[in-house]
Amino acid sequence: MKDECLICGAPLIYLETGEKMTCAICGEKETGRSRCENGHYVCNECHMAGLDSIAALCLASSSTDPVEIMQSMMALPFCHMHGPEHHVMVGSALLAAFRNAGGKIDLPKALAEMMKRGRQVPGGACGYWGACGAGLSSGMFVSIISSSSPLSVEPFSLCHQMTARSLAAIGEIGGPCCCKRDSYLSLLSAIDFVAEHFDIQMQKPEIVCRHASQNNQCIGKRCPFSRAEKQPSSPEGRRRRIAVLTPAEAEKAAH
Ligand SMILES: [Zn+2]
Ligand SMILES: [Zn+2]
Repeated sequence: MKDECLICGAPLIYLETGEKMTCAICGEKETGRSRCENGHYVCNECHMAGLDSIAALCLASSSTDPVEIMQSMMALPFCHMHGPEHHVMVGSALLAAFRNAGGKIDLPKALAEMMKRGRQVPGGACGYWGACGAGLSSGMFVSIISSSSPLSVEPFSLCHQMTARSLAAIGEIGGPCCCKRDSYLSLLSAIDFVAEHFDIQMQKPEIVCRHASQNNQCIGKRCPFSRAEKQPSSPEGRRRRIAVLTPAEAEKAAH
């Protein structure tokens, strides 16, 4: 089943400029940039309803693998194939895994902060702002664990570098956007970044996407997490896979 319009399942249309639209769920009017072919618009708030359940999931988790935590969130009913909920999920999964791997943070407080910040990034920020919300979420995570502010020095640098690294990985692959792929790329970038700068090693798994059949815009073999990519016979797949490894791992994989 393809996950598109939350009301009728029809494909979505992305508009070049924002238009005042009425949410088909709550009736709220706001400026949006996407609606389905049948004219349904779902506001950001309604798209993220149920998001509160991720804090409970994160607090209960003992996993040091942010991808595993992210995938448990993806399995919950609030999470759609694509949507701004991913902008909160990436940072939250990282906060939980970071704490579980030995990071010293006040997790409930950090998760509340992540929720507040991540919710402010609307759907479509990737294509319209030039900054995918999943990538921004990894920067918010580093900002929170390093207590960054606009006036801080080192934390300011770190959170910018984190966002830049995630966005570089996302940009290199190209569109159309996929909230699953872009979330995975951000998580993998953050695992390496945290090991380098915070001396905390979160678990870094091999990722194989299970959502391709729900994604109308799946880029198939171009995706580093596609099942097809995992066939050892594909040199393109090997090259792609190496691209998401750290330089040291890529060096090892090349031999
Ligand atoms: Zn619809
Ligand atoms: Zn609404």
